Amino acid sequence: MARQIKSPDIEKNNFRNTYFSILGVLFIVILFIVLWNPLNLNRTVYVPLTPQAETTVNDNTHSSVVIDDGKVEMINGKPSTVTESSDIPEDEIVKDELDDIVDDKDNTVQYTIARGDTLHDILIRYNVNRNDIYQLTTKFKQLANLRIGQQISWTTDDNHNLQTFSWTISSNNIRIYEKSGDKFVESSETVESVPQNIVIKGDIKSSFVADARKNGLTSNEIGVITRALQWRLDFRRLQVGDKFSVVLTREMHGNRLSNSQLLGVRIKNGTKDYYAILADDGKYYDINANSLSQSFFRYPLAKQARVSSGFNPRRLHPVTGAITPHNGVDFAVSRGTPVLSVGNGEVVIAKYSGSAGNYIAIRHGRQYMTTYMHLDKILVKPGQQVKQGDKIGLSGNTGRSTGPHLHFELHINNKPVNPLTASLPISEGLTGKSKKAFLSKVKTISSQLDF
Ligand SMILES: [Zn+2]
Repeated sequence: MARQIKSPDIEKNNFRNTYFSILGVLFIVILFIVLWNPLNLNRTVYVPLTPQAETTVNDNTHSSVVIDDGKVEMINGKPSTVTESSDIPEDEIVKDELDDIVDDKDNTVQYTIARGDTLHDILIRYNVNRNDIYQLTTKFKQLANLRIGQQISWTTDDNHNLQTFSWTISSNNIRIYEKSGDKFVESSETVESVPQNIVIKGDIKSSFVADARKNGLTSNEIGVITRALQWRLDFRRLQVGDKFSVVLTREMHGNRLSNSQLLGVRIKNGTKDYYAILADDGKYYDINANSLSQSFFRYPLAKQARVSSGFNPRRLHPVTGAITPHNGVDFAVSRGTPVLSVGNGEVVIAKYSGSAGNYIAIRHGRQYMTTYMHLDKILVKPGQQVKQGDKIGLSGNTGRSTGPHLHFELHINNKPVNPLTASLPISEGLTGKSKKAFLSKVKTISSQLDF
C-alpha cells in the first residue's frame, strides 16, 4: 500500500531532479559563453617588443601552393615593392672578381646517384631548365638506366640552361650529351682515365685570379685555393712579383678534365710563405698541421639574449602582405649593450645607412660576412682589422627600429643564412697519428712547391 502511495512522489522527485539538473547545466553553459570571450581576449593580448616593424602576421588573404619541387609559392601574393622595412641598409657591400670565383659561377655540378633518384627529379632539384630536361630525357631513353653510385655531372649557363651533361657508366665508358642548337647530341668516351700529378707555377703580374687562369688553373681549382687559404691570406693584397706554386691530381679522359684535386699550394707574398696541404681527412692544413680555418661565435654578444624575431626568408609584411625576408636574427638587448665581432675579419662598412641605422659589415675570409644593425654607437672604422670578440659597437635603436634591439646577419657566399643554425667552420689542428702521417706527406708535396 505504502509503496503505491509513495510511487508518484518518487516520480515527481525524479522529474524535479532532472529539471534542475538541466537548468543547472544550461546555466553553466551560458555562464561559460558569457565569460569565454573576455577571458580569451585577456589571454591573447600580445605586446610585441617592437610593435610595428618587427610584428609577423599570419596571412589569410593569400593561399599557398606546394609546387612539385617542394617549394611553397604564393599564388595571389603579388611580389610588390616593399615600401617599409626595418633593416635594409642603403650601402651595398662591394664585390670583386674573387667573389665570382668563390661563388662557383662555373655552374658545374657533380652528383652521385642515390637510391630512388631519377634524372628528371635530380635536375629539377638543381633548377635546370625544364625544357632542357624534357629534351634530354625523352630523346635518350637510356638515361632511365642510371645506377646507384654512378657519377653524373652537368654544366648550366647563368640562366639555368643545360649546356653539357655527362654520365660515367664505368671509368672507360662515359656518355656525353652536348647541346647543339636546341637539341642534345650524344657522344661517348672509351678512354681509361689517367690520373696525372701536375705542378703549376706562376708569378703575379696583375691579380691572382687572372694570373692563375693564364697559367692553366681552372676556375674550380682557383676557388679551392682561395677557400683553403681564405683565413690566412687576403688575395687582394698579392702584388707584382709575388709567386704561387700548386700541386694537383687531374683525371683526364682524352682531352677532357673530369676531376681535379688540389694536393698542395704555396703562395709567396713578399717575404711570407703561405701553405695549404691536403690531409687524409679531406681538409687543408698548414705545413705544421695547424688548422687553416677560423672559428666563429654563434652570438655577437657576451651573454645570450632573447631572440625577438628569428631568421625568416619568407616573412610576410604586416602592412603590404608582400614577402619581406627577415635576413637576420633580432636580439632583444637594451641600449648600450656591447656588440662583439663573431670572428676575425676586416670592417668593410661602418656608418649610418638608411633604415639599418648605425650599421657595421665585417668580412671574414672570402666566404663569410656578418652585419650588425640599429647600433647606438659604432666603435670601428672601415678597413680596420678586428679580432673575434672585439667590441665593435653598442646596441641601440637607430634607423627604422621601434625598440632597442640588435639585428645580426650572417652571409655565406653572399647569401644570408640563419646564424643560429648555419654550419660554421671549426679550427682544430691535427694530432697524434694523423699529424705524423700528414707531416710526412708535407715533405713530399712541399718539395714540389719550390720556386
Ligand atoms: Zn631584424
